Amino acid sequence: MNRHECRKARKATRMIGAGAMPLPRDAPPLDGLNCYVCEKQVCAFSCEGELAIGVAVVMDDEGTVVIPLCENCLRDPSMPNPIARKYFGNPSLEIGDEDKISAEVFRAYAESFTATEH
Ligand SMILES: [Zn+2]
Repeated sequence: MNRHECRKARKATRMIGAGAMPLPRDAPPLDGLNCYVCEKQVCAFSCEGELAIGVAVVMDDEGTVVIPLCENCLRDPSMPNPIARKYFGNPSLEIGDEDKISAEVFRAYAESFTATEH
């Protein structure tokens, strides 16, 4: 693989991560925030003593998207496969370890999801 092909392959990689994100104290209200997978309203839940919501981050050649998840879907053992299948419209898509984003990257994007405008 030459350098150009290598870059092209990396660009097409779909990176997905999902996890609980602690809510900042001054987070905007969650009204109207619906789970991407089941479309139910997302409610904050208690996670390690803090209020948190479920969030997924999808990175692909179109860019980076941060999407809300309800607690039930977040705890689905097959996560993040359901997101990948819906997002990419492919019902048999499996997300391997190379297709998952690191916890660090997830946190950085998840924080931007609830960051208040300055
Ligand atoms: Zn859900």
